[in-house]
Formats: sequence, structure tokens, C-alpha cells
Amino acid sequence: MSDYLPQDTGEQSLWSATAIANPVEQRLQQSLQADVLVVGGGYTGLSSALHLAEQGVSVVLLEAKSIGFGGSGRNAGLVNASVWQNPDHVRRELGEEAGERFNQALRDSPALVSELVNRYQMKCNLQPVGTVNVAHNAAALKSLEERCRQLQEIGAAVEMIDGESAQAISASPVYRHGGIHDPGAATIQPLNYARSLARAAMDQGAQLFQESAIEDLVRKNDRWLATTAQGEVSAEQVIIATNAYADGNSQQVRESTVPVFIFQCATRPLPDDVASGIIPERHGLWDTQLMLTSSRVDGDGRLIMSSAGRLRGFQRNIRANWMTRTRDWLFPQTRGVEWEYQWSGQVGVTRSRILRVQLLAPGVLAPAGYNGRGIGPGSVIGKHLAQTIVSGNRDDFPFPIEALYLEKSRAARAGYYSYGTLAMQLLGRR
Ligand SMILES: Cc1cc2nc3c(=O)[nH]c(=O)nc-3n(C[C@H](O)[C@H](O)[C@H](O)COP(=O)(O)OP(=O)(O)OC[C@H]3O[C@@H](n4cnc5c(N)ncnc54)[C@H](O)[C@@H]3O)c2cc1C
Repeated sequence: MSDYLPQDTGEQSLWSATAIANPVEQRLQQSLQADVLVVGGGYTGLSSALHLAEQGVSVVLLEAKSIGFGGSGRNAGLVNASVWQNPDHVRRELGEEAGERFNQALRDSPALVSELVNRYQMKCNLQPVGTVNVAHNAAALKSLEERCRQLQEIGAAVEMIDGESAQAISASPVYRHGGIHDPGAATIQPLNYARSLARAAMDQGAQLFQESAIEDLVRKNDRWLATTAQGEVSAEQVIIATNAYADGNSQQVRESTVPVFIFQCATRPLPDDVASGIIPERHGLWDTQLMLTSSRVDGDGRLIMSSAGRLRGFQRNIRANWMTRTRDWLFPQTRGVEWEYQWSGQVGVTRSRILRVQLLAPGVLAPAGYNGRGIGPGSVIGKHLAQTIVSGNRDDFPFPIEALYLEKSRAARAGYYSYGTLAMQLLGRR
């Protein structure tokens, strides 16, 4: 296993501590045949499996560790639309027509999450409260105005809010400049969303296995044969949805992104008078600082914050202390409160900052590189992959399908992000 990959199981996260039961119990110990093999039990793989099974396709999903072990069980739970980059950037990178299709496909991704949650009665605490990208100073507001304009141009129902509204929504003395409000966005318990997707896929007939890493994938008798430690699956087509956590036989996918870490801290449930005074309508917030920080308050009144970096070894205290100081600055009402949970996760970053769907071999597709925004996009891509496989027609797939792309200088760039953020946190910069 690469030293980039987290060795921890994610069990210290708030999400694990408040998780619903994992519906998947079995390991692959047999030989199976399926139309489609899905590798990876995060949103991309689970949404693919669910949408394939809904259409009567026989599908087997293999997860190396446990459902939601990767980014899908560790993230900040902001169900946002589109991608981090502005629509114009996407068009520049992909070309006018392909970029526009891409932008349109992800413009309303929270609506798909919401539809799935409602249709399958998922217990993942989806709160359709909206999110706000808040400016931390006047200069940052200018770039948000441009982003908002571009999003509105592609039809997104977002709006600028002024400083007074930003302050009322956040109850932070810092967020007083304004921001972009997306009323269609939401917050969610991310691990429970992954487990609920797994439950729904199984109810539709998909067979899911965990602790079943694929170790080999070879062509045999005009089909793909994947082997695990104790079993094998033969399938006509394969979706490799291992993304930033790619391990074992999906090594190529790992090398298609640069690993960047994000950590999160969650307080104990705050006293009622404090909890009701912070982000009072429970929007999800993320800001424009160089050390981007997100904040939300969950149903139990816990303040949950995230920023760049990995909590490991000597870095843990430096980063956690920085987060405490940042919290006291943003939300002085919480001064003195301790963190109850702290955890980190890994995102896959691409040079273009745009996700890629790669064709690794005939019949083997691998989406990866959500650059830190994958709840909506992973759900949407899974749905489109399923439709494309069922129809056999790639023309309707709204994302470019590329050949394998390997990121250059991964170790150096990963180190740059890691130590760059650490230095800033050590120096108390934001
Ligand atoms: C800390 C953090 C905060 C984030 N915050 C947000 C947010 O607020 N909003 C948002 O939209 N996105 C956010 N993201 C991004 C989002 O979580 C990811 O983009 C998304 O979860 C990716 O889903 P996935 O299914 O593609 O990959 P993953 O969820 O990473 O799943 C990949 C799975 O593949 C499995 N696997 C690997 N190798 C093998 C193998 N050989 N055989 C079988 N299985 C294998 C792994 O164990 C893993 O479970 C955040 C990410 C992190 C880490």
C-alpha cells in the first residue's frame, strides 16, 4: 500500500460514531458471473451499481475495505452543485461544446441526491438548507461575483447575498462581506448516504461484497475476470470507481490524481444557547481563504469544521490547534469548547482541476479526480455510467471519455500541498 494512503480506518470520525448499520456483511468467497463488475464502494461505485440494478442489469460490487471507507465516508457533507472551477474554466479545458455538456450535467447534482434519498427513504439526515460560499474579505467577494454570474449563465439558481445577510446566516463577525447562496444545495451525513446507497442497490438486486479488494483484472474468454483473495468475478464490463483510494490492481487510477488531504474537527454538542446562535438556519458554509475552511452545525448542535491537511504524527497538534484558533476567530461564541472528533481523508486532485472519466481498456471505465467535490458529481456520474452501459451509446454520456492520464510529479506535488499547508498553519496564516 502506498504511503500516501491513510492507514487509519476512519473510525474516529463523527460519521462513523453516528452511522447507521452497514448493510454489507459478506466477503467474496465464490466465483460469480455478472454483466457489470463495479470496483469501489463509494458514491461513484454505489450509484453505478444502484442505477444498473434498477434497470435489471446483473451487477457485482467489490469494496476493498468497508462501504464508504474512502472519501465517501469521511467528507464534510456539503452537497454542492457543479464543480470547484468556474463554468468558463471547464469550457476552456474541455472545449466549448463538451464543457457546456459537462456544466449542465452537474449543475443540479444536489437534486439527484435528494431524489434518491426521498425515493429510497434513506436515513442520512439530508438537510435541504442551502449552502453559502462566503467571502472573507472584499477582494474575494469580487471573484465570487464573477463565479455567480457564470453559474447563473449556465442556469444555476444561485444568487449573491450581501454582507448583512452573510453575517445573519453565519453569525460570524468575519463573514460580513457577502457570498453566493445556493438554495438547492444541502448538508448530509456522508457515511450514512453511502450505506443507504448500498442498501438501495442491494434491494434492487445488486450483489455487494466488502473486504474484497480486486488483486488482478485480466481478459479471459472475451470477458473481464477479477480475482480477490478468496473469489473471482467474470463480467462483460467493469467500472473502476476506486478514485483517490485506489489500491491493489487499480494502481493506474491512483496515479491519475494527486493525493491531497483534508481534515475535520467536530465539537461536542454545544449548549443550546450557543448552538442556536451559530449558523442559525444550519446552512453549510465554505469560505474564500487560501486555507479554505468549511463550517456547519449538525442536528445535535455540533460545530463541524474542515480545512487542508492530514492529522498524522507530529502534524496532528499543529493542525488541530490552528483549527481551534480559526474557530475562535470565526465563531468566538465557541471559545473554550473542545473537539470531540478529529479525522482526515484524501481527495484526488487533477492538474486541470476537473474530474476525468478514463477508458482503461475496452469495457473498463474509471471516473476519478473529483477535486474535493464528489457527493453530487459521484452520484450523477454513476447514473450516467449505468445509462451508457445499458444503452450501449456513448453519445449521450455528458462527460468526455479520455484515455488513461497519469499525473506528473505526484509525490512532489503531494508534498508541496502537505508541507505548504502545514507551514501556513504553523505560522498561523489563513
Ligand atoms: C475530508 C474530505 C472532505 C470532503 N468534502 C466534500 C464535501 O463537502 N462535498 C463534496 O461534494 N465532496 C467532498 N469531498 C469529496 C468526496 O468525498 C469524494 O469526491 C467522493 O467521496 C468520491 O467518491 P468515490 O466513490 O469516487 O470514491 P471513494 O469514496 O474514495 O471510494 C473509493 C473506494 O474504492 C475502494 N477501493 C480502492 N481500491 C480497491 C480495490 N483494489 N478493490 C476494491 N475496492 C477498492 C476504497 O476502499 C474506497 O472505498 C471531500 C473529501 C474528503 C476526503
